[in-house]
Amino acid sequence: MQIEDVTADPDYRVALIAEAGGFRTVLAAPLLREGDLVGVFVMTRAEPQPFSPKEIALVETFADQAVIAIENARLFEAVQARTRELAASVGELEALGEVSKAVNSTLDLDTVLKTIVAKAVQLSATDAGTIYVFSSTRQQFRPRANFGMSDELIAAVSQQTIGLADMGIGDAPGRCMPVQFPDLGKETSSFLVRKTILDAGYRGILIVPLLRPNKIVGALVVRRHKPGAFDEQVVHLLETFAAQSVVAIQNAKLFREIEEKGEELEAASRHKSQFLANMSHELRTPLNSVLGFTELLVDGIYGELPDKAKATVARVQANGRHLLGLINDVLDLSKIEAGQLTLAIEDYSVAQIVRSTLTAVEPLARAKGLELSATVAENLPIGRGDERRLTQILLNLAGNAVKFTETGAVDILADAVDGNFEITVRDTGPGIASKDQALIFEEFQQVDNSSTRQKGGTGLGLAISKRIAEMYGGTLDVESVIGSGSTFRLKVPIRMNEDVRAA
Ligand code: ADP
Repeated sequence: MQIEDVTADPDYRVALIAEAGGFRTVLAAPLLREGDLVGVFVMTRAEPQPFSPKEIALVETFADQAVIAIENARLFEAVQARTRELAASVGELEALGEVSKAVNSTLDLDTVLKTIVAKAVQLSATDAGTIYVFSSTRQQFRPRANFGMSDELIAAVSQQTIGLADMGIGDAPGRCMPVQFPDLGKETSSFLVRKTILDAGYRGILIVPLLRPNKIVGALVVRRHKPGAFDEQVVHLLETFAAQSVVAIQNAKLFREIEEKGEELEAASRHKSQFLANMSHELRTPLNSVLGFTELLVDGIYGELPDKAKATVARVQANGRHLLGLINDVLDLSKIEAGQLTLAIEDYSVAQIVRSTLTAVEPLARAKGLELSATVAENLPIGRGDERRLTQILLNLAGNAVKFTETGAVDILADAVDGNFEITVRDTGPGIASKDQALIFEEFQQVDNSSTRQKGGTGLGLAISKRIAEMYGGTLDVESVIGSGSTFRLKVPIRMNEDVRAA
């Protein structure tokens, strides 16, 4: 648009400007970006003389260039702002990552809360912060972690007891949302720590409650020297930190409870084992004397017994031995549990152990018509460890094999492989279902079918054997397919590590 002479145009409303600027002719070219007006390019002339069409076209070209320049600057500014935003988000994400790492990797509550409060202060561009934890028994908030505060200020803040009725930290959780005081200097209300905080040079303060459903956990507080409102993004970010703090506090509490429960259980279990160990010992003494006297009776030391009495005494003897076996098992197990079982260390021969096992189970195998055999590799080295306990394990394995097998064979193989003795006991018995294979090594567990139940037993033998094998630094496992027999494999170091003895 062109005004040839502003003094002659009654519609020209800024005549004063024309006078001050000393111009008569005005040419104005709009700066248009996709139809939107972004500015106006104005040319003036002191003399009243119209611009030529050529000049006008030139001005229009300049106007177009100006639009491009303005647009470029705007885009550049937008890109920069976005980059700044992204960098801030990356910073926030990194800080959140560090906070979650702290929450997940350490159960030390003070460390976690310190990390959280430090990151919260850093990311909210504030100067100091505190996490308060609420004690429901005392109905008080207490500072638990601080950042950016002098020792004196921490001491001063700690001295103030804050209850639920107190304004600010106290009543923010009740309101279930962040509360901010943009300028404590202008705050007239009775905010409890106001004076302390103000004296320390802080003006702005933001309080974010730590909440669980229906429960007040505490508050996260950040403070800043400069007065002014906290923007929404900061408030939102601190809410995330508050949520992490709640998780950390909850984790620590649960962990403490579990630890206490664990200790109580351990003590109870120790008492139980001790009691069992004492009881079994007390039971064994009179039982041994009963067995001793029955043996004298059976041996005819007090004269020949009538047949009826002989049979009865033999049953007393058999039952007494069985009872002694049970008591010994219970004693062993309670000793293992109380950590009182120690293994002897002596030289022994595997061949000898296998031989005495065979001798013990041979009568029953013969009575059941089972084939019983043993293969001991030649030139086995001399072992070093507890011969009696190894024999006990092998007797249990071979005893079970003979007990549970009705037809076929039981055989024992002994060899030395990679510094270990490997002794396997194979049978052609009923086999053990895979779901039961782990179970049978637990105390008092038997495969739940009528045939095993009928065979009696306590379900302690394998549990004891496995525990002893493990104390020994070895293993005891089973391989079995139901219907095709079982193979139990004992592996123990040829030379037992002497340190495990005390275990
Ligand atoms: P017990 O023999 O006194 O019951 P164990 O701990 O020695 O106790 O064995 C636990 C259970 O494992 C047995 O009751 C039985 O069900 C199963 N079991 C052990 N050895 C065999 C085997 N060779 N064949 C089949 N089942 C077995």
